[in-house]
Amino acid sequence: MQLLEDPTIKYPKPPFKGQSQPWPGLAGKMDPRPDHGEQSYKGSGRLKGRKALITGGDSGMGRAAAIAYAREGADVAINYLPDEEPDAKEVIALMKAEGVKAVAIPGDLREEEFCKRLVEQAVKNLGGLDILVSNAGRQQAHQSILDISTEQFDWTMKTNIYAPFWIIRAALPHLQPGSVIIGTTSVQAYDPSPDLYDYAQTKAATMNFVKSLAKQLGPKGIRVNGVAPGPIWTALQVSGGATQEKLKNFGGDSPLGRPGQPAELGSIYVQLAANDASFATGQIYGAAGGNGQP
Ligand code: NAD
Ligand code: MG
Repeated sequence: MQLLEDPTIKYPKPPFKGQSQPWPGLAGKMDPRPDHGEQSYKGSGRLKGRKALITGGDSGMGRAAAIAYAREGADVAINYLPDEEPDAKEVIALMKAEGVKAVAIPGDLREEEFCKRLVEQAVKNLGGLDILVSNAGRQQAHQSILDISTEQFDWTMKTNIYAPFWIIRAALPHLQPGSVIIGTTSVQAYDPSPDLYDYAQTKAATMNFVKSLAKQLGPKGIRVNGVAPGPIWTALQVSGGATQEKLKNFGGDSPLGRPGQPAELGSIYVQLAANDASFATGQIYGAAGGNGQP
């Protein structure tokens, strides 16, 4: 029996408390704590035996996908920054409780050599790879383009554009027909905010590479899709991604009147990875509470 759940009152609404953490932030220190499906996600064997690597798997959308994948029977490796160990430990414990392989590979994706090592270690520890979720991201709000240093710009580009390129290039030789690549893009790809000049263009790039790679890899039997979240209550937003002003009313202007929680996107990552979505490639699946495209 599935009771009806009104999406307008299912999760916390603004106003939120102002709060700020140093980048990259911890979900465990947020108030309220985000819901990644820890208590709610129920699997049904949809990804049994699959082998997944998820970047940014410690928190936010990546954690929701990691929990969901493990409960669907997949072995999962997660990458995150060393500072995020407390969040990562929780995810590894939750995945191990499902009886699947749960592999932690911390490291900084801005380094090409690390990206290569990450894929090698994931393949070695999982015994192969057939789901790659490129989800890690860097977002910092700057009111003016004049406030963005070359170093900041480079940081965003390295994390959001170079790292997916390096990781996908390293992973491709391991991906057999039936494998999938999933990128986390954003409503920012289509309707950029004035204070996210650098970040928004990287999300447009993600949306775009999903579509070109889908065409390139379709004949090889590898599907490539993207997820485009709207405002979601995650660590990235409280560690410089949003201004304090925006944070206090976060998600308040969406038709559902609140931000999304990572838990509300976990099943989208499952759907895009599952065999029964075999005709979906080059698609962007949105979850934005009623605003935004696609
Ligand atoms: P999050 O902070 O929980 O996750 C982002 C993760 O990126 C971090 O946990 C971190 O592990 C990883 N990361 C960042 N820089 C890294 C680096 N140099 N090396 C290794 N890992 C690094 O926040 P989130 O909102 O869940 O973000 C996940 C994805 O969702 C991002 O790509 C983000 O752009 C996208 N997104 C978020 C929102 C939102 O409102 N929260 C909206 C649209 C898209
Ligand atoms: Mg994190």
